[in-house]
Amino acid sequence: MELQRYDEKRKCPKCGGSDIGDQFYEAGDPGMYSGPACSNWQLRDQPRMDRICRCCSYQWVELPLDSKAEINDIWRTRRRIMKNTKLILGAILGALIGLALGAWAMFKLVLRSIRTATWKRDNHK
Ligand SMILES: [Zn+2]
Repeated sequence: MELQRYDEKRKCPKCGGSDIGDQFYEAGDPGMYSGPACSNWQLRDQPRMDRICRCCSYQWVELPLDSKAEINDIWRTRRRIMKNTKLILGAILGALIGLALGAWAMFKLVLRSIRTATWKRDNHK
C-alpha cells in the first residue's frame, strides 16, 4: 500500500466530496478511533495525515508534506524482506521434506535388505 502526499485540494476518493477534515498524527499515534491507522501498524508507524470525508465519512491516510519520500521505499524494502523470508522458509521446508523422504526410502531399503538376508540365511540351512 503506497500513500499519496497530502494534497489539500484532493477530493474524497469515494464520493468526490471536497469537504475533507484533516488531522496530523505523529508516528505511533493510532489517531482516530475508527481510522485506517488504528489497526494498521504500517500506517501507524509514521507521521501522517488522517483525512475524513465530511460527506460520506470515508477515511484515508496521506503523507505529510514534509515527510521523506523514502517512506514508501522503506515499505518496499519491508515487503521484499518478507517475500525473501517466505522464499527461504519455503526452501528450508522443501529441503526438510526431501530429507525426510530420503531417510524413509533409505530406511525401507535397509529393512528390505535385512529381510532378504534373513530369508536367505533361513532358507540355506
Ligand atoms: Zn466522501
